[in-house]
Amino acid sequence: MIIVLVAGATEDQIQHVIGRVESLGFQAHLSRGSHRTIVGVIGDEEKLQSEPLSAIQGVAEVVPILPPFKLASSEAHPEPSVIDVGGVKFGGGHIGMIAGPCAIESEEQLDAIATSVKKSGAGLLRGGAFKPRTSPYSFQGLGESGLKLLRDVGKKHGMPVVTEVMDPRQVPLVAEYADMFQIGARNMQNFNLLTEVGQANKPVLLKRGMSATVKDLLMSAEYILSRGNAQVVLCERGIKGFDPATRNVFDIAVVPLVRQLSHLPVVVDPSHATGKPGLIPACAMAGVAAGADGVHIEVHNQPEMAFSDGDQALLPEQYESLAEQLRAMADVLGRMLN
Ligand code: PEP
Ligand code: MN
Repeated sequence: MIIVLVAGATEDQIQHVIGRVESLGFQAHLSRGSHRTIVGVIGDEEKLQSEPLSAIQGVAEVVPILPPFKLASSEAHPEPSVIDVGGVKFGGGHIGMIAGPCAIESEEQLDAIATSVKKSGAGLLRGGAFKPRTSPYSFQGLGESGLKLLRDVGKKHGMPVVTEVMDPRQVPLVAEYADMFQIGARNMQNFNLLTEVGQANKPVLLKRGMSATVKDLLMSAEYILSRGNAQVVLCERGIKGFDPATRNVFDIAVVPLVRQLSHLPVVVDPSHATGKPGLIPACAMAGVAAGADGVHIEVHNQPEMAFSDGDQALLPEQYESLAEQLRAMADVLGRMLN
C-alpha cells in the first residue's frame, strides 16, 4: 500500500503517518519528492483494509497494491478455474450452455422446452421456481412444486439444473433439488445469502447486480469463496442504462476484464442484457468471441403465453440456430461447447 500525502504536508503530519503505520505493526518507507511525499507501507496489506488511513490529517490518498478480492483474483490462482456442474463445464476452454424458461410454469411447458434445448446441445437446464418480480402482483413462481418439476424434467433429459435462490432460508430446500444455485442480480449483494451458499457444497451462478461495479461483483464472489465454496461462476447480465431501447446495457468489456482480474469463469446472459430476441443471437456470439465461458439464454415454446419474460424468450428453433452458430465459433476458437 502507498500513502500519498497532500502537497505541503508538514513534518509533523509526515511523522504522524509513519508513527501510525508503525504502531499497526508495519514498516514505513518514506520517499520525499520535490512536489509530494509518499509513504510505502510494507507488510500484509489485507490487514490494513479496514483501517481509515485516509482520515489522517495530511493524507491525500491511500493506494492499495493488491486487489481486495484476494481469493477471486487471478494473482491468487493464475490458472483459470473449471467449474463442473454435473458434467457441464465452465472455464478453461469449456463453454457451458445454460437454457430454459424464465419461470417453471408446468410439467408440459418445462418438458417441451427441455426436449428442444437438449436437442440443440444445451447442457444445463434453467428455470425459476422463486421469481424476484418487480411487482408483488406478478407471478412469483411455483415454489417447491416448481423445484420438483425442474429436478424431474432435468433427470428425464439427463440435464443438471440451475435455479434461483432468493433468501438464505431457502438454501437447504433449493439445495435438495438443484445442481447449481443462481443468485440473481437483485440479490448480488445480499450478504447473508452469499454467506449461506458459501457454506453449501454446490456450484453458484452469481449474476452481476444491475448497478454493480466489477469490483462489487468480485467482492460478492469473495464472500462465497471465503466461506469455503470455490465453485463460483460469474454472469454478466447487463447493467442499467438510460435508453429503454434495450432492457439493460450489455457490458461486454466485462468478459475480458473479469478474465484478466479473476480465475473464475464468466458467462453471458444476453436475454436479460438486451430483453429482445432479435438482439440475443448477436450478443451471445459477441460474448463468446470476447471469451465468455458460457451462454445463458431464456427459451420458451410459447413466449406469448409465458408467465414471465416472454418478450425476451427465444423460440426453440431460434435457440437451435444460435447453438449451431455458437458451436461453429467455438470450433474456430479451439474451445469446447458442452
Ligand atoms: C432470471 O434469470 O430469470 C433473472 C431474474 O435474472 P436477473 O437476476 O439477471 O434479472
Ligand atoms: Mn428471466
